[in-house]
Amino acid sequence: MKLNDPQLLKQACYVAGNWVTAIDDACSSVTNPSTGELIATVPALGKQETSSAIHAADKAQGDWAARTAKERATVLRRWYELIVENTEDLATILTSEQGKPLAEAKGEITYAASFVEWYAEEAKRAYGELIPSHKPDARILVSKQPIGVVGAITPWNFPAAMITRKCGPAFAAGCAVVLKPAPDTPLTALALAELAGRAGIPAGLFSVITGDAVAIGGALTESPTVKKISFTGSTGVGKLLMSQSADTVKKLALELGGNAPFIVCDDADLDKAIDGVMIAKFRNAGQTCICANRIYVHNSIYDEFAAKLVDRVKALKVADGFEPGANLGPLINAAAVEKVQAHVDDAQAKGAKLAYGEPQPEGTHFFPPQVLTEMDDTMRIATEETFGPVAALFRFSDDADVIRRANHTSSGLAAYAYTQSLSRAFKFSEALEYGMVGINEGLISTEAAPFGGVKESGLGREGARQGMEDFLETKYTLMGGL
Ligand code: ADP
Repeated sequence: MKLNDPQLLKQACYVAGNWVTAIDDACSSVTNPSTGELIATVPALGKQETSSAIHAADKAQGDWAARTAKERATVLRRWYELIVENTEDLATILTSEQGKPLAEAKGEITYAASFVEWYAEEAKRAYGELIPSHKPDARILVSKQPIGVVGAITPWNFPAAMITRKCGPAFAAGCAVVLKPAPDTPLTALALAELAGRAGIPAGLFSVITGDAVAIGGALTESPTVKKISFTGSTGVGKLLMSQSADTVKKLALELGGNAPFIVCDDADLDKAIDGVMIAKFRNAGQTCICANRIYVHNSIYDEFAAKLVDRVKALKVADGFEPGANLGPLINAAAVEKVQAHVDDAQAKGAKLAYGEPQPEGTHFFPPQVLTEMDDTMRIATEETFGPVAALFRFSDDADVIRRANHTSSGLAAYAYTQSLSRAFKFSEALEYGMVGINEGLISTEAAPFGGVKESGLGREGARQGMEDFLETKYTLMGGL
């Protein structure tokens, strides 16, 4: 891996302001999903190191919270600038361990940096309020205080952005973070920690620990010092962390799985809807929790839409992320390939047609994009998140019916609808039981908006003013005897 600054490639963990390895030198490998090559090793740490990090976080947090908001903002701003200055290197690390095309990796670094920039600004706006009192000689004072030490656990699909989306608001609010990144993509997290240290994030305020997920997750959830768990990942692990957090009654932010419906009405601008599907379905090779999983197309335009989509999908280049012009990199691992293939096989066995798709090259993690037509609600894709580049087209003919089918899932993260009718747009926006709805838009993620889901897709919001609220406690003081 060629980096302008080789110091950004860390094979040690950042704990309490020091770069450490395991006492017994135990480590785990990080491989390139595109080639299978070993890129680096990272320490296999566990409960003991996590406890040290929590202790250091607790010590550092009070002083950090006592600084003025402007001081915290200045450090965050510096972190933002360093991330931007090192975009090239961070993207190289990200593509090497995650596989997404380099241009997309650079886009993710820009997106990741945007959270740090946004919350550097928001740090100054943790406003409280003075409420008209119920007594003449008293005043009701409401202030905001940082929640304290936060345990963060992040996934591999956005190795940079999922970290800054949590750490940006946490540090802005005056919290400390102990982070466990995904085992497939720890190198981006460690590089971000190096830059955080250079920016002036105090020792101990931010630790990054790689290793045994169960041990680290257990130490974070059982510690009474950790006041909040912020997790992005699978619904199953989210539920587990929720139950583990019950004993100490922690606040939870959970961003879990989705199964996004993408509805194309008969009055939609077809070309715009195709553009929307391309981004909502094939970004990151379909490995995002807001990916269009079920594409419902009105009967009257179904065949035209399918033909146009196939034309666009044919032009996608599947290649190593470092190859110029690559649109889709590999899937993250063999298990991901197996799951996506199983969804395609299940659909075909139940009568779906493969309108376009090349066979999956065995022995690799590459999955060529596919378009399936004549999908029905008995197929696995109708109820399970595919997390791969398979566009599955369902038919519909009635708005009320498609809304009912779109809502018939335990997930409620993102939904999309394309229509040129204002009243229909509002109808979909209001009736879809999702935390986020894109109307005539396939790309909804931005640091300026609250990202999050309802139902089993999770709790809490990340991004926007709401994202910072989640790291603050509300304190009420009755100032009496005035
Ligand atoms: P995926 O299946 O997409 O990898 P996971 O939910 O398994 O999603 O992983 C998301 C994050 O949760 C990763 O950092 C992973 O290591 C972590 N994780 C997995 N199992 C546990 C666990 N039992 N306790 C804490 N963290 C876990």
